Amino acid sequence: MRIGIDLGGTKIEGIALDDSGEELFRKRIESPQGNYENTLAAIVELVNFIESETNIIGSVGIGIPGTISPQTDRVKNANSTWLIGKPLHKDLESLLKRKIKIENDANCFVVSEATDGAAKDADVVFGVIIGTGTGGGLFVRGQSIIGANAIAGEWGHNPLPWPEETELPGKECYCGHLGCIETWLSGPGFAYEHQKYNYLQHALSAKEIIQLAEDGDESAQASLRRYEQRLAKSLASVINILDPDVIVLGGGMSNIQSLYTNVPLLWGEYVFSDHVSTMLVAPMHGDSSGVRGAAWL
Ligand SMILES: [Zn+2]
Repeated sequence: MRIGIDLGGTKIEGIALDDSGEELFRKRIESPQGNYENTLAAIVELVNFIESETNIIGSVGIGIPGTISPQTDRVKNANSTWLIGKPLHKDLESLLKRKIKIENDANCFVVSEATDGAAKDADVVFGVIIGTGTGGGLFVRGQSIIGANAIAGEWGHNPLPWPEETELPGKECYCGHLGCIETWLSGPGFAYEHQKYNYLQHALSAKEIIQLAEDGDESAQASLRRYEQRLAKSLASVINILDPDVIVLGGGMSNIQSLYTNVPLLWGEYVFSDHVSTMLVAPMHGDSSGVRGAAWL
């Protein structure tokens, strides 16, 4: 049995899968806010609970919002800031009395979709999560790629490639740079651009803009077309480096159906190839991909 834990900022989800990927058990608990010791205790309690309910001892994989630094073995880049600098891996191994795997949640997403999801059997898979942020993970021939700095696939803080004059210098990003891909493609980035472009007094949410576009609102449709163009350019720069067979989209923005038809029509202009056979696909496991991927680790 494989136990997966998805450690989120507001909830911790646990799942147990059998070897065929069949779900045996699932439980969701509140995430202890701001307290590292309580977070450790909650994870241990969840694993113990799953094992006592199923009566099986499992392997344990954990997805976290951040990553374990290969240099210090401590958590870095986590938006759940109480985890930063903590030896989460070591502490959980000693509390759970076994070897465990911990990876970034975007990596877990790509592991899930490449193992038994929308990118099953593909050689090279780039998984993208576009929601409140813009993350990414890389999976090559059965292996999740972590990288020397544990940031493989993190494309969100590169600048928007092939920018128009009107896209420069770009909005300031929390990372300190201007015009990062994330400032354009994240849900809040999309909402901000629509507001600014149309001189709106109040911002609409990304979801509201998409609904307006579907209802025939021309300014919302124009915002969506600009978004597709930026996503196409941004993914083309990834294709030029990784040349993936499949790109799987996840996160809230992956629910926009027009992306799957329109973006591949646009990215050919920027990919250094006469033909682009890379496929852009929707996730198969949706919101469950993070916790399923943690189990597959
Ligand atoms: Zn940035």
